[in-house]
Amino acid sequence: MIDTDILPITESGVAAGNKVFGAAILRKSDLSLVIAGTNSEIVNPLWHGEIHTLKQFYELADRPPTRDLVFLSTHEPCTMCMSAITWAGFDNFYYFFSHEDSRDAFAIPHDLKILSEVFGLPPSGYQRSNAFWTAYSITALVEAEAEPLRTELRQQRDRIKGQYQVLSQRYQESKGDNAIPLN
Ligand SMILES: [Zn+2]
Repeated sequence: MIDTDILPITESGVAAGNKVFGAAILRKSDLSLVIAGTNSEIVNPLWHGEIHTLKQFYELADRPPTRDLVFLSTHEPCTMCMSAITWAGFDNFYYFFSHEDSRDAFAIPHDLKILSEVFGLPPSGYQRSNAFWTAYSITALVEAEAEPLRTELRQQRDRIKGQYQVLSQRYQESKGDNAIPLN
C-alpha cells in the first residue's frame, strides 16, 4: 500500500517541492484502498499528508463511515494530524516511520518539538491508546511477527525505507527555496 499507492503520488509531490509525508485510508474488512494522499504544504502549510488525504476523503461522493476504516500514515502523525484523525472518528492509526525517524532520518524535528514545546511531552509521551483510538507502529508489528514472515517483512520495510531516503534527500535539497513556515 505504501509503495504502490502512496509513494508514486509522493514522488510527484516532492518534485513540486512538498515534504515526503503521505497517508492512505483503507477498509478494515479487506484492507482495500479508499483513498491515498500526500503532503501539499506548498499550497497550504496545513495540508500535511494526513490532513490532505482527509480533505480528499471528505470530497468523495460515496465514502464509508470512518469506524469501518483504517488510517495509515507513512510517518507518525503530528499533533495536528492526530487531532484531525480523532475529530474524523477513526479508532486507529498505523504509521511506518516514528517521530524520532522524522527528526533523525528526515531532518524534520517539528513533531517532537511541538510535542515538547506546546504540550510539555517527551517523545511518545501522548496516550497511544485512549478513549478515541489506538496508535500502531508498523515496524513494531513487523518485529512481533514469527519467522519466516518477519524476515520477509523486514526486507520489504528496508526497501521502502530506501525509497523514502531518496525522496527525503530530494526534499532537503529543494526546501531552501520554499515558503513553508516549518520546512
Ligand atoms: Zn501533521
